[in-house]
Amino acid sequence: MRMNTPSHYAEVRCPECGWVHVSVPVTVVSDGGSQEQQERYYRCFRCRAPSATFVPAGPDDAPIGATLQPVVIPSAHSSKVLVIALDLEGTLISSAVSQFPRPHLFDFLTGCQDLVQRIVMFTTVSESRFRSIAELLVRERHAPTWFASVEYVAWSGPRKDLSFVPLAKIEEVLLVDDVELYVQPSQREQWVPIQGFEPPGDDDVELVRVLHELRKRIGFNRNGPATVPLVEGPA
Ligand SMILES: [Mg+2]
Ligand SMILES: [Zn+2]
Repeated sequence: MRMNTPSHYAEVRCPECGWVHVSVPVTVVSDGGSQEQQERYYRCFRCRAPSATFVPAGPDDAPIGATLQPVVIPSAHSSKVLVIALDLEGTLISSAVSQFPRPHLFDFLTGCQDLVQRIVMFTTVSESRFRSIAELLVRERHAPTWFASVEYVAWSGPRKDLSFVPLAKIEEVLLVDDVELYVQPSQREQWVPIQGFEPPGDDDVELVRVLHELRKRIGFNRNGPATVPLVEGPA
């Protein structure tokens, strides 16, 4: 089986020979074929190293326009992480007042959507204010369309306690936030730190770096069946 690189599958690299593959769920390659044929999806197309050793491909690894071989990584769907919670100010944009989008915002959001079924906003900015900011970002093509209606977490108190995320266990949520003070100390492991964004910062690549970090932490997880129902934000 050969396929054009679908943008929504994570690219992974064989650490032995450097060959880049796409990590696909087993369901993509499981129909038909003998066991022997299935086996090859668990090995490097070129050197036969086991897929379990593969690492996320970096931005410079993939040959542009190449057709990539699909590979199945056994651990790829075992990640507990189902939800990415995103801070707004200093993380995705400068502030609710100045509203400068951080460089690479569109690709970051798209990349997050590729990793998990559910993205939520976890911000001190009110929902109505967030919605108008999000609509503007979508209109100006700094964010994909779905971002305008992304789930918004209602919360209170001094910390962004992940138990405020409805229908999710704490270990299922990763919080991307630039301010450590908001992190519940007992939930520190769920925190993915990002440097605060200060415009203009045209060469700011934090969102690229953090997307790679998320891919590593989530373990190439992609588009398994939804195990958490999508819920509406508070009315
Ligand atoms: Mg912030
Ligand atoms: Zn190899």
